[in-house]
Amino acid sequence: MVLRQAAASALAGVTLAGALAASPASAATPAARDSADDPVNRVVAISVDGLNPQAIRVLGRARTPSFHRLMRRGATTLNARTAREQTRTLPNHASMMTGRRIDPRRGGHGVTFNSDTGTTVHRAAGRRVASVFDVVHGAGGSTALFAAKPKFALYARSWRAAIDRFTVDTDNARLVRRVTSELRRAPRTFTFVHLSLPDQAGHARGFMSAAYLRAVRRTDRLLGQIMGTLRARPALRRHTLLVLTADHGGRGASHDRASKPANFRVPFMVRGPGVAAGRNLYALNRDIDSPGSARTRYRGPQPIRNGDLADLVTDVLDLPRVPGSRFNARRTLDVFG
Ligand SMILES: [Zn+2]
Repeated sequence: MVLRQAAASALAGVTLAGALAASPASAATPAARDSADDPVNRVVAISVDGLNPQAIRVLGRARTPSFHRLMRRGATTLNARTAREQTRTLPNHASMMTGRRIDPRRGGHGVTFNSDTGTTVHRAAGRRVASVFDVVHGAGGSTALFAAKPKFALYARSWRAAIDRFTVDTDNARLVRRVTSELRRAPRTFTFVHLSLPDQAGHARGFMSAAYLRAVRRTDRLLGQIMGTLRARPALRRHTLLVLTADHGGRGASHDRASKPANFRVPFMVRGPGVAAGRNLYALNRDIDSPGSARTRYRGPQPIRNGDLADLVTDVLDLPRVPGSRFNARRTLDVFG
């Protein structure tokens, strides 16, 4: 794969040393390595803001056909976790992009706030914080961030050189049309899509309310459009990994209390070439303990977290891990079986 050679030259030095340590076989003879993720050369990540996975159960297959199709064809769980510290939007998306926890005194990314104040992640952390965009872009790949909330400008500002396209559109349907149009025309190596309908309905009318469930159904249709676009083109279908998760859930008026299961429980869904179809991710990953209903700490056995996304992406693209990442930093999360 061309990207691998680009990775070797662009990331020569410290990060390549990391890659060598992580995967000696691939570093010695990259082209000869044969693994389940070899067909994957691009990733589309979708984060559904405020998606309580219970909504997918309540609505069922008839009313959320795309989420259920993703579960039938992919490796998934409805019992992943947010970062422990907070169940809010900007901190958890920063975790998805960096693979870090939140608390900057403990190696976290430092995005402890939930509105864009014009700062950068690096200033918030007090040091430079690398992202999955840096790794993909540094290896010669192209990247895009599509967001339904303007405050995602925080990330575009922070990783300006590594995000080739940043598009904000608060109209979710129009945002998805922009995504599918780019996927058809000139797909990126890594595309991150943020959708916001459930969170908006939740704040207006209550999380898990009838209005909220309607927003999840609308999101299911938008997900169907993205999945349909990937399916319709062999070049995309055969080589694209789709990952879907959420920044937090919610029940009732809010999602702010990080100790509530309805807030910290999120979906984590993966589908693509070679992905173990219809498998539960905890059943597939015997060494990762299902957390049950526990909130989980950072010590001891780790659950699958939304922040596993960053290094799942680097793993399937055969790139070095995101420098400084903690979640899934050893790339133990297996989606292929
Ligand atoms: Zn919210």
